[in-house]
Amino acid sequence: MSEKGRFGKASVRDADVAGRTVLVRADLNVPLADGAVGDDTRIRAALPTIELLRERGARIVLCSHLGRPKGRDPELSMAPVAARLGELLGTDVALAPGVVGAGVEAAARALEPGDVLLLENTRWEPGEKANDDALADGLAALADLYVNDAFGAAHRAHASTEGVAHRLPAYAGLLLEQEVRELTSVLDDPDRPLVVVLGGAKVTDKIGVIERFLEIADRILIGGAMCFSFFRAQGHATGDSLVEEDGIEPARRALELAAGSDCDLELPTDLVLGASFSADAGPVAADGVEVPDGMMGLDIGAATASAYADAIAAARTVFWNGPMGAFELPPFAAGTRAVAEAVAATDATTIVGGGDSGAALVEFGLAGEVSWLSTGGGASLELIEGKALPGVEALRDAGVEEES
Ligand code: ADP
Ligand code: MG
Repeated sequence: MSEKGRFGKASVRDADVAGRTVLVRADLNVPLADGAVGDDTRIRAALPTIELLRERGARIVLCSHLGRPKGRDPELSMAPVAARLGELLGTDVALAPGVVGAGVEAAARALEPGDVLLLENTRWEPGEKANDDALADGLAALADLYVNDAFGAAHRAHASTEGVAHRLPAYAGLLLEQEVRELTSVLDDPDRPLVVVLGGAKVTDKIGVIERFLEIADRILIGGAMCFSFFRAQGHATGDSLVEEDGIEPARRALELAAGSDCDLELPTDLVLGASFSADAGPVAADGVEVPDGMMGLDIGAATASAYADAIAAARTVFWNGPMGAFELPPFAAGTRAVAEAVAATDATTIVGGGDSGAALVEFGLAGEVSWLSTGGGASLELIEGKALPGVEALRDAGVEEES
């Protein structure tokens, strides 16, 4: 039997939760607009685990971080999230008076089976990012069991994602479980050809992913600003393009590794240029990849976009992370759109890493056309690189019985 997609951690589906209090760490780090939830995608992604626990009669204490508060910033209270979550669940979601402490414990004790209490922003507590013992103890005091469903924060060893998991029987939530399964399916015996499309700003963010895929993939197609580190490594002129200087040496090494591997590492053959990073700065089509002074490369060219779309159409598995250009500026969105449309059109398995590539898919109305759109940007890249995710590692292994 294939080991494909195997996940060795205990699942919330197998936890005995009826009548017990369950602390759920979700990723409810949503954008806010005028004091209300903007895009509620992350709240919706957390619903299956919450609904399963409610159906099974658990008392639910839910928590997440929100933004980057400095202390107890009321602008980054979870109140709007509680309101939106309540609408989606069709029940009231109470907001706790803080993250831990006597008042929060009293609110948790008052829960009836099926009730949901949302803690305040975990990052209101300085102990969250420090993975402080006292905060982890305080969180553990609220519940009998812990469920981590916050895949997007699983690469962080924080008190609510890691510390608390050592203090309670700790299970994987449904979203976290599916994220790991979908992303690792690209690495474990993928249907071939496996074509990987990588773009975005910085090559150093993604060099680990490039190196991993040089061992696994059939083709890696590079776009975005990171191609300029490769072009500099090859001696091309990059003009005023965004070049990550620290990325040039890693890019050179990746080209060397590629030369000795079975995987093709492919770079753009033409570009779209503009005079500055702005929507009225071009676009100027360039046949080759030399960028003159006074100009910057802001998208892959039409020939490259069409070659990348053909490669995607010929693939059986596609992994895509990172836009092909400055897609926020309409004149420089064509390359990213061509890749998004090719990924949406194929019936191959298509896995898209989160962050800006996910935002591009949503903007083009194509988010529903891929096999899996990850909710985790950094976490999905670290998982692909082969790094251990602290929020996953700390969960109990599947098949281990709970001590009574
Ligand atoms: P992701 O979040 O999908 O991993 P990144 O955060 O690495 O992607 O990169 C996305 C950013 O890269 C976008 O804001 C986009 O404008 C920028 N970008 C892509 N190509 C270029 C380019 N040629 N010049 C300048 N910025 C670019
Ligand atoms: Mg990004």
